[in-house]
This record gives sequence, C-alpha cells and structure tokens, in this order.
Amino acid sequence: MAMKLAQKELTQIKAKLVERKHQLEEELEGLYNEKFSDEAVQDPIDQALNTSMEELRSALQNKELAEYNMILDVLKKIDNGQYGTCIDCGQHISEKRLMVYPNATRCLACQEAAEG
Ligand SMILES: [Zn+2]
Repeated sequence: MAMKLAQKELTQIKAKLVERKHQLEEELEGLYNEKFSDEAVQDPIDQALNTSMEELRSALQNKELAEYNMILDVLKKIDNGQYGTCIDCGQHISEKRLMVYPNATRCLACQEAAEG
C-alpha cells in the first residue's frame, strides 16, 4: 500500500502545479486577446480562415480551461489535506505516480480500470 505523501514531495508537487497554473493563465489570456483582434477582419477568405482558426483556438481554450480548473481543484485538495487519495478506491495514490502526474485523481489500478 502506498504511503501518504511527505510534506517535501507535496511542496514540490504544489510548486509544479502553481507554475503550470501561471503558464495556463498566460496562454488563456493570450487566446482571449487574439480573439478580440479578429473582429476587425472583413475579407471573406480571411473570415473563413478565421473561422477554422477560431474553432481550433476554442478547442485549445477548452482544453486549457479544463486543465486549469483541474489544477485549481488539485490545489484546493492540497490545502485541505485531501490530495493524493484515489477517487475510486480511497487509497493513497503512490508518490511516484503523483510526481509524474500531479493531476492524477486515481491510483494506477483504478486508472487502468477506468480506461478499460
Ligand atoms: Zn484506486
């Protein structure tokens, strides 16, 4: 059975998550700003191009927003001491796994079961 995370590892994981959170904030801010400047373009071909760019961008934006929300969630869990517990079986997720996947919400066995 995996041991509960040591404070040192927890601090490292938290630092990594906060760094990623800042990165995502900058990227998301960039995506939002680009969107506004597109509205000045009138050419139909540019419009069409922009539409597919827009779709790509919003897909990226959704993906990044989802990751961002997940990080916020994980940081909250770290703060209230619930971090590192598998959402399926309630066991502690191994330290090694959390160092590689700080966003992991399931232990390896449950993750594999969930992915089928
Ligand atoms: Zn589990």
